[in-house]
Amino acid sequence: MKIPFLNLDYQHRPIAQEMLQVTADVIKKGWFIGGERVHEFEQAFADYLGGVHCVGCGNGTDALELVLRAFGIGNGDEVIIPSFTWVSDVEAVVAVGATPVYADLPENGYAITAETISPLISDRTRAIIVVHLYGIPVDLDPILKLAKERNIKVIEDCAQAHGATYRGKKVGTLGDAGTFSFYPTKNLGALGDGGAVVTRDEQVAENIRLMTNHGQKERDIHLSIGRNSRLDPLQAAYLTLKLSHLDEWNEKRKQLAELYTEGLQTVNMTLPGFTDESIVHLFVIQSSQRDKLRDYLLKMGIETAIHYPKPIHKLKPYEVEGLTLAYSEHVARRVLSLPLYPGLEVKALEYIVDCLKRF
Ligand SMILES: *Cc1c(COP(=O)(O)O)cnc(C)c1O
Repeated sequence: MKIPFLNLDYQHRPIAQEMLQVTADVIKKGWFIGGERVHEFEQAFADYLGGVHCVGCGNGTDALELVLRAFGIGNGDEVIIPSFTWVSDVEAVVAVGATPVYADLPENGYAITAETISPLISDRTRAIIVVHLYGIPVDLDPILKLAKERNIKVIEDCAQAHGATYRGKKVGTLGDAGTFSFYPTKNLGALGDGGAVVTRDEQVAENIRLMTNHGQKERDIHLSIGRNSRLDPLQAAYLTLKLSHLDEWNEKRKQLAELYTEGLQTVNMTLPGFTDESIVHLFVIQSSQRDKLRDYLLKMGIETAIHYPKPIHKLKPYEVEGLTLAYSEHVARRVLSLPLYPGLEVKALEYIVDCLKRF
């Protein structure tokens, strides 16, 4: 059996006809930047999350950078981020001229906590970026409390958590701002790049909207220093269509994750630890023999991936001399992501479980 790590074709096939239709509509209209389609998606996504304004932008990394800029964070400021995450978080911090401060993971779990953050807070700390990694919501309340007492912004990176909730509310709506990526492989993915910022603060949303379009309120009226980072109508049209399937796809992923979890009960590996409020973006196990296991699975025709092989503080451009973050480093040596996507057949999943047991 040959099982790819990801197959988006399975997911797209049932809506292929509708995707072609919206493509034809956009071409016929001849309008390829801004406008109706983009507003329609922004409104639909804001409604889906509840209680926020949504501004589309070029990608999830820009979304983080735009939020930091909107909060006036830059030179001389510190932003606390997890070290065990995708590189976008540090890229955004460095892009605005601020200094990243890396927080470690706790002994169990994939998110930084109030306990791991708290010793890192200084007079210069202006923001904390939390990441709902793999679809598992971060325990936000203690972090929000800590931040509020010190007037620090909390930014939720929701690139892996479209639809996850925390205490009944969608993630992205709880902090000072939330950022989303619509990179094709995300739970809600475009057919290219895309991103969004969401916030309850209308003024922040408005400032970000200006920034994404050269600081223009109207054409040639430049009100602030801007740039170009826009979600385009074609991507917005695909996203509106796909948003209507998001809960159903998330449900399918959840069912597959449950089958993995049941099947792997007797295997000596750490399982993901999803909660009722999680969505499933990646199904990540931990093994002390991760690299051997990965080679073995590949030999058995099963593609896997590693999210992520090195914590940020060990990546060349962001390396901090002498810094040790024991749990982030430990986890980075052990994690392995198994194939999981709508359309993955149960018999393929059972085969993967069998191979894991045999290993
Ligand atoms: C995908 C992702 C992003 C943003 O990705 P883009 O490719 O810039 O859209 C940011 N943070 C995390 C944790 C991600 O997984």
